[in-house]
Amino acid sequence: MLTKGYAALSADAPLAPYQFERRAPGRRDVQITIEFCGICHSDIHFARNEWGMTTFPCLPGHEIIGRVAKVGDDVKKVKVGQRVAVGCFIDSCHTCASCKEGHENYCENGFTMTYGSPDKDTAGKTQTLGGYANQIVVDEHFVLNVPANLDPAGAAPLLCAGITTYSPLRHVGVRKGSRVAVMGLGGLGHMAVKLAASFGAEVTVLSRSPGKKADAQKLGAHDFVLTSGDNALAPLANRYDAIVDTISAKHDINSALGCLKRDGTLILVGASPQTLDLSPFPLIFGRRKVMGSLVGGIPETQEMLDHCGKHGITSDIEMTTPDKINEAFARTVKGDVKYRFVIDCTKF
Ligand code: NAP
Ligand code: ZN
Repeated sequence: MLTKGYAALSADAPLAPYQFERRAPGRRDVQITIEFCGICHSDIHFARNEWGMTTFPCLPGHEIIGRVAKVGDDVKKVKVGQRVAVGCFIDSCHTCASCKEGHENYCENGFTMTYGSPDKDTAGKTQTLGGYANQIVVDEHFVLNVPANLDPAGAAPLLCAGITTYSPLRHVGVRKGSRVAVMGLGGLGHMAVKLAASFGAEVTVLSRSPGKKADAQKLGAHDFVLTSGDNALAPLANRYDAIVDTISAKHDINSALGCLKRDGTLILVGASPQTLDLSPFPLIFGRRKVMGSLVGGIPETQEMLDHCGKHGITSDIEMTTPDKINEAFARTVKGDVKYRFVIDCTKF
């Protein structure tokens, strides 16, 4: 099926209109007319080959919301016309221990990312192409239901920014009375604030941007601390049960580690292309931990969407159009968006 989108043909080329074929829906497939797709900083890292793993053409997009246009004969989960979502991956082995436990994101045989993975449709000769497009075809297992009360454009970023922060916050047991800090108030960071606050935690934003202080409070944070300046974090020593680090570039994590309570966890979700330096001392003194976390599995993603439906949580977005994707990339890198760009995919 002829599909229209925007792709980068090389690491230094801007994204430009790109037409390609998607498979016709098979028995277990859902054909989705895409309405909205969020712009995640990972899309930018990937399109610019900052992680050194991109094969071109690269057509990003993994925060996808749309309507079901067609279903294969065996599809039971969704119906034509229904509003649905697709996140960061569209296939996995279904047989390994992680898949069997609903953690397809940690598939031990390699999951298929929504974009940038070898495409099984072409026996791996081409890469999967993502949600910066007018339609997508996905196995029903990887299609999610969207609560009807949520604004669909604001719900798009839940599929990556939402689940990437929801999953580790739940994993470390954040609940009423927990103290959480969020480093970096961008797409992931603002969702971490909203979600941690919805679990009843007391939330502090750690940011390099003084202009974000008023927003932090509106998003549900109780405190805002500017990270620029010498020893800015020293007054926060031994304070937090968890810190969610969403920073997209090289930065100091050692002074943040000192802000954790004994046994506290620094949750690293930001994926800096440059290696971060880790001092053993703040870990040893305080038995503190550093963990990473990658999006979330399908059952937990549905749980997160339902939680957001119940609490009326969506992302704060700025709508953009396909012809302005490159401008949106540049503004995201500068931190000039409150707090996620979402593409109107009806305009492809
Ligand atoms: P974003 O919207 O650009 O936000 C990143 C924030 O980090 C910025 O708003 C800024 O916040 C802070 N920041 C950026 N550059 C900085 C620097 N040089 N020094 C200090 N702070 C800086 O990005 P995002 O979409 O939230 O993604 C954040 C990171 O998470 C990216 O690396 C992305 O690839 C990664 N990611 C990981 C997963 C996963 O599964 N683990 C999923 C999605 C994304 P302040 O202005 O408030 O300081
Ligand atoms: Zn993402």
